[in-house]
Amino acid sequence: MSVTDEILVANEIYSRNHHLVHLSPRPKRKLAILTCMDTRLSIRTLGLDTGDAHIIRNAGGIVTEDALRSLIISHYQLGSEEFVLIHHTDCGMQTFTDDELRARLQRISGTAVLSPHHFYAFNDVERSVREQMQKLQSHPWIPKEIKVRGFVYDVKTGRLKEIL
Ligand SMILES: [Zn+2]
Repeated sequence: MSVTDEILVANEIYSRNHHLVHLSPRPKRKLAILTCMDTRLSIRTLGLDTGDAHIIRNAGGIVTEDALRSLIISHYQLGSEEFVLIHHTDCGMQTFTDDELRARLQRISGTAVLSPHHFYAFNDVERSVREQMQKLQSHPWIPKEIKVRGFVYDVKTGRLKEIL
């Protein structure tokens, strides 16, 4: 049985007691989080419940074109008023460079591609948080009233460290 088959079985069991029908698409706590797809990060580590926040995830928690799209929709269409950006220690994005990965993929596939144009690998996790915050704070479609705060989650201690 594949993992997909396993989650289908688990979902069937879950659906018998589904009690989240009262939730709306608007985040109850008016919060949007952009973070890494890492397996160790979850709403539980932030004390959040289903329905509380929009969670936008990609490799690294990078402010990409698509992450911007989601955050803008989250604010203007669905009412989020705070943005939280979270990177973390021991991130997979620190294990390669864009050039290395691109060269490897071209070698394996025998072809170059136009998309994805960037992988956004980084060495310095705190510097990357500052860069992503800068991208958000300088974007003309993200109002200045939106609070944008950035953090590094330490996967060993479970604690968030604010990056100023
Ligand atoms: Zn990561």
